[in-house]
Amino acid sequence: MIRATVGACTDVGRVRDGNEDSFVVIDGLYFVADGMGGHSAGEVASAIAVGTLSDLHSSADGGLVDEDQVADAVSTANLAIFMEAIEDPSKAGMGTTLTGLVVTDAVAHKIVVANVGDSRTYLWRHGELRQVTKDHSHVQSLVDRGAITRAEARVHFQRNIVLRAMGIESYVDVDTFPLDVEDGDRFILCSDGLVDEAADDEIEAEIREASGVQDLADRLVNLANRNGGRDNTTVVVVDFEIVDEPTVNATTVADESSATIGSDDEHELICTLPPDDASRPSPWFAVGAWSMFALSAAITVAVMVSAFVS
Ligand code: MN
Repeated sequence: MIRATVGACTDVGRVRDGNEDSFVVIDGLYFVADGMGGHSAGEVASAIAVGTLSDLHSSADGGLVDEDQVADAVSTANLAIFMEAIEDPSKAGMGTTLTGLVVTDAVAHKIVVANVGDSRTYLWRHGELRQVTKDHSHVQSLVDRGAITRAEARVHFQRNIVLRAMGIESYVDVDTFPLDVEDGDRFILCSDGLVDEAADDEIEAEIREASGVQDLADRLVNLANRNGGRDNTTVVVVDFEIVDEPTVNATTVADESSATIGSDDEHELICTLPPDDASRPSPWFAVGAWSMFALSAAITVAVMVSAFVS
């Protein structure tokens, strides 16, 4: 049996007005999507992508259990974005990248990584960082041809040209990578906001420093922002351990608030440091709102009573 522990962080960055990235963290399914398109259509596209996948995983008997089902689910999500863009002309041309993984057989330790576009899934195993996915980008094709190096690609002026994206056509070509999980494997899913701002050795340094999954997600987003934060950055970190006992709930989320579909409407880290920090409404916000409501009701009653008695 494999057990997952998950951390997630998303941030608008230092330059952009809105966050068009989305992510999903549910039991056995973890994805990051980086939307594109004007008038907030990008965040719609990325939200449809992760939302459709989580619905399919939750509704299917036993979830998505093999590579073909994962690929089909991504295709269904692609079609959902494409149809939404047809129905609403203001969203025409919207699209999104998508990368992430699905636990297809927890007992046999099998997962499937899926990818469309230039968001990335990395694997940290035995102290080495390896990119599992291959970018569908113009600069990656230049790297493949030997025209530029991987380091040059990261700062190339055409680095934002993607060759595949979800929602642009009714059909999408999905890369899938079946993998056998080993105890201690750490998967890092990220939008290009991280890789455009940070070199592999900087990412590795944060991995070595981090105290856990949530700390690493926070650190990597902060790293991207420190280096410029010119794009939205989203990071999901999934640690797997092999356990003997079957567990009812196979996923432990380090930060409860990110245990769902996430996007960052408040333009701040939803994830920095301990739960219940200032970046999200605290329980006291609700208490305060109810107190204000009770107070205004009391004043109304008092005014009515005083008008009545006088
Ligand atoms: Mn991006």
